[in-house]
Amino acid sequence: AHLARIEAVDEKVHAFLHVDREGALAQARAVDEKRERGEKLGPLAGVPLALKDIFTTEGIPTTVGSKILEGWIPPYDATLTKRLKAADVVILGKTNMDEFAMGSSTENSAYGPTGNPWDLTRIPGGSGGGSSAALAAHMAPLAIGTDTGGSIRQPAAVTGTVGVKPTYGAVSRYGMVAFSSSLDQGGPCARTVLDAALLHEVIAGHDPLDSTSIDAPVPPVVEAARNGSVEGMRVGVVKQFRGEGYQAGVIQRFDESVALLKELGAEIVELDCPSFDLGLSAYYLIAPSECSSNLARFDGLRYGLRSGDDGTHSAEEVTSLTRAEGFGPEVKRRIMLGTYALSSGYYDAYYGSAQKVRTLITRDFEKAFEQVDVIVSPTTPTTAFPIGERADDPMAMYLADLCTIPTNLAGNAAMSLPCGLAPEDNLPVGLQIIAPALKDDRLYKVGAAVE
Ligand code: GLN
Repeated sequence: AHLARIEAVDEKVHAFLHVDREGALAQARAVDEKRERGEKLGPLAGVPLALKDIFTTEGIPTTVGSKILEGWIPPYDATLTKRLKAADVVILGKTNMDEFAMGSSTENSAYGPTGNPWDLTRIPGGSGGGSSAALAAHMAPLAIGTDTGGSIRQPAAVTGTVGVKPTYGAVSRYGMVAFSSSLDQGGPCARTVLDAALLHEVIAGHDPLDSTSIDAPVPPVVEAARNGSVEGMRVGVVKQFRGEGYQAGVIQRFDESVALLKELGAEIVELDCPSFDLGLSAYYLIAPSECSSNLARFDGLRYGLRSGDDGTHSAEEVTSLTRAEGFGPEVKRRIMLGTYALSSGYYDAYYGSAQKVRTLITRDFEKAFEQVDVIVSPTTPTTAFPIGERADDPMAMYLADLCTIPTNLAGNAAMSLPCGLAPEDNLPVGLQIIAPALKDDRLYKVGAAVE
């Protein structure tokens, strides 16, 4: 049924870069056969899922939305892919994304933009717009995203779906193409809080193949999602997450959510987190710096595209020609910014300062979580904007992640879930819930209570 739905609507939405029809049917049949043989089935047996094209899939193309990996067929599965298969999930295909997960609209994909199912002329968010659009258009009940600065939560917010960025290190990054390694985190996307929790439990857990993977039990997210409650909880509202640039209807729905939390028995606490205002600036030094280093491996020799391979060019020229042709403008901008910020003589002033700001933001969170159990905010300052509107204005595009970035810098957990439509444009608004590191279950407890 989901393959039929994809066939019927994805020509318009363009959520998928690759639909693995045969593979999906084979996986589904394998689940049936297992059942017939009376074998034990995985926890998500037979449930279809849309996988962001940033996770390697053995034998299935993985492009990361980039031309530089066009035609590359990975010889191995990411740990996350392996876990999905072990849970008997049916992987429908790979979803569209901003190139190397750099963007907030999916317009930076080398394979063309994705439309927001609520209004196809608008962006589905990014970088994981394909995954969220697939959920919103009912092409899949579950999806996977990655969140470096908001790429799970912002697409969830603007498509009226649920997305969770787990605590940094909760979900293995092995086989997840690296953008900014100290910020990148894979996570679940779904249409309900409980569905997200069921997926969270399958993909999280320690992985010796990822040196930053947390060696601790997965928090009881499913139990929390089944027992939603905010009774007696202290919920923080951060002063810095409103003001100029926030759409009136977004603030209205957010204020209503806060009122609902209060009605359900939560105590609301006003918080001041002054360093959050510096989050965007710090992020746009740290993320490009790490990307400039991570993307050095795309040299035209190891994977995918190779340009100028006609016997007249040196290896260095082949690398240069491949990168010139294979990377899109946003990726090039970030490599240049990052290389500059890391260069000798500038390192302390830029990268060093950004790391200090990162520490200040972490301290703001630590202080806040002495007073509250969770923090809530709008996920994004505005609803989905029209495709093209911010494409030539990187600064305007970067503002979409104003509320999501502090969490990535500090490494704690956050969720976005729908909290109604903005009255001025009838488009979905996202409520963000933020929890301390390793307390991901609180997101589900609160999310299930207000869903
Ligand atoms: N929009 C942010 C960026 O472009 C975040 C992307 C992400 O989370 N992958 O860097």
